[in-house]
Amino acid sequence: MGWLDGQVALVTGGGSGIGRAVVARFVEEGARVGVMERVAARGDELRREFGNAVVAIAGDVAQLADNKRAVAETVRAFGRLDAFIGNAGIFDVYASVEEMPEEQLSRAFDELFAVNVKGLMFGARAALPELRKTKGAMVFTASVAGLNSGGGGAIYTASKHAVVGLVRELAVELAPDIRVNGVAPGGTLTDLRGLQSLGNDDRSQFAAPDMAERLRAGNPLHIALEPADLAGAYLFLASRRDARGITGTIVQVDAGGLLRMPRPRSPHGGR
Ligand code: NAD
Repeated sequence: MGWLDGQVALVTGGGSGIGRAVVARFVEEGARVGVMERVAARGDELRREFGNAVVAIAGDVAQLADNKRAVAETVRAFGRLDAFIGNAGIFDVYASVEEMPEEQLSRAFDELFAVNVKGLMFGARAALPELRKTKGAMVFTASVAGLNSGGGGAIYTASKHAVVGLVRELAVELAPDIRVNGVAPGGTLTDLRGLQSLGNDDRSQFAAPDMAERLRAGNPLHIALEPADLAGAYLFLASRRDARGITGTIVQVDAGGLLRMPRPRSPHGGR
């Protein structure tokens, strides 16, 4: 028996990286999954891999109408919605506010917040009538950049702090029917893209050949996280049985990367 037998989820950005790993794990655990994805070709790949367990919807999370269509098509295909996984996101590739050309600052902010923050707000709004019917759950992809400095530039970090705020406020607003939680990944080997407005949306920083090694050096577990390492946190938070009492929380999956390290020992003893 699977954790999600008979249940239906909608995953945004489920065509790649963390979202795709969530889709694979949810299907493995008995769910049927709607996937809303900006890159339409990724929908075809999903159909080839998962067959009838997945319905792919091409769309942009920054458009409310696309989110509503994704919910409607998922419910038309599978009859209900139990979990909304708001995951699609883009990155500022550590763009510096001081060094960014002035004319790009506003465009970069608008582009990134439209996807990372407004996209979640719209997704939540579109999904909530169906989730009220099933007393379902929302899980949003936040980031370690939503909990501390150092996980991105100021625009990305602000957007992920906003995601954490959205989780907490919606958890209260939508209770008692709908649980709302977040997952905060640390650096994970995916295809996460930059911004069109900064000219770096055509590649991922994780494509750099030494990236796995750098990720391993940055956390106490010495792990270069892979998307599959994240999927269990979403599964747990979506589970009615195991997460019944959990709302408004952020589960960190960062190989300990946000922990403070001990200072080097003093030769005179103590720290
Ligand atoms: P990814 O690029 O591999 O996957 C993201 C998917 O979202 C892609 O398929 C992309 O086409 C899709 N997408 C992007 N914009 C979209 C839009 N407007 N509408 C619909 N689909 C859209 O990257 P990923 O790392 O798996 O990213 C998933 C989430 O994880 C993001 O929210 C990201 O901020 C977050 N995250 C990633 C890391 C990391 O190190 N990779 C760390 C913390 C948080």
